[in-house]
Amino acid sequence: MRTMQAAVFQQKGKIGIREVPCPEPGVGQALIRVTTTTICGTDVHILKGEYPVREGLVVGHEPVGVIAALGPGVEGYSLGDRVIVGAITPCGQCRACLSGAPSQCGHGGDGYEAIGGWRFGNTIDGCQAEYVLVPYAQANLAKIPSGLTDEEVLMCPDIMSTGFSAAERGHVRIGDAVAVFAQGPIGLCATAGARLAGASLVIGIDSVPHRLDVARRMGADVVLNYKEQDVVAEIKRLTGGGVDVAIEALGQPSTFEGALRSIRPGGVLSSLGVYSSHLTLPLDAFAAGLGDHTIVTSLCPGGKERMRRLMNIVAARRFPFRELVTHRFRLAEIEAAYDLFSHQREGVMKVAITP
Ligand SMILES: [Zn+2]
Ligand SMILES: [Zn+2]
Repeated sequence: MRTMQAAVFQQKGKIGIREVPCPEPGVGQALIRVTTTTICGTDVHILKGEYPVREGLVVGHEPVGVIAALGPGVEGYSLGDRVIVGAITPCGQCRACLSGAPSQCGHGGDGYEAIGGWRFGNTIDGCQAEYVLVPYAQANLAKIPSGLTDEEVLMCPDIMSTGFSAAERGHVRIGDAVAVFAQGPIGLCATAGARLAGASLVIGIDSVPHRLDVARRMGADVVLNYKEQDVVAEIKRLTGGGVDVAIEALGQPSTFEGALRSIRPGGVLSSLGVYSSHLTLPLDAFAAGLGDHTIVTSLCPGGKERMRRLMNIVAARRFPFRELVTHRFRLAEIEAAYDLFSHQREGVMKVAITP
């Protein structure tokens, strides 16, 4: 049997390299030889045991690679094609997918499954490995335009897609004022996305000076350090009463509440965070339920058409991806990469991992 190196969840606190069988594609599947991948904040939750996955699972959900093998029924692709695959791999054919909610994909069935579209490194083996098996390949393989490097498209599978979705699902309009709570990799992409969507004022909020500097370069007009000032009061002062859209990009009750308090009546709270505790709605900020507020949540949009659009944004130089890939590691060194990334040392934003 052929084997490969892969980063495997072994126990709480331990993701490390193991030799595992190299998968073979079945009907509708493709085998990708991974050329570059990265680590997501969600992988750190998995490492810490805060998001449970089974022992022995290959982790990672942001693949860039080349097609190494194609199963029966996958058409329009050739061996050697350079592709990316979204972190979310919808089937494209179930009720959820065909009703416009592909991230909640029911896997070819006749229903919806909450978070069902997220399979890589969650319910099936992921891509922090030499090879990854792609389900529903016809719906998910996105060819990389010639001229773009691996690192240039590495942010597309997850953080660009997720960050941009906050502005899209929050219906940011030309001329809007938008506040983005937290300027980690996802929040920075949300900042860039709000700018792209036409906001005339983008306010980035964090406490780390380096991240606030990057936020300015990625599209924030104003940055606020919540450790130094009353952010909600300053947002209300800057906007004359509150932003049109506030984006939550951390997953903490405090940032959720800050976002809610900073929107104007009739405004939108667009939430990207992954929450691990109960949320409460403060009665005054919620206008007792009569403030015409909208609260939307989003899971990263996936599928090949989404990836095509995001890669075109990169190709058109509309997205400053170079701010985000700050460190590089080999797959064999992935434990060191997790250590750096999870402790946010050396100003790390995202790491590029190459086999
Ligand atoms: Zn992720
Ligand atoms: Zn589906």
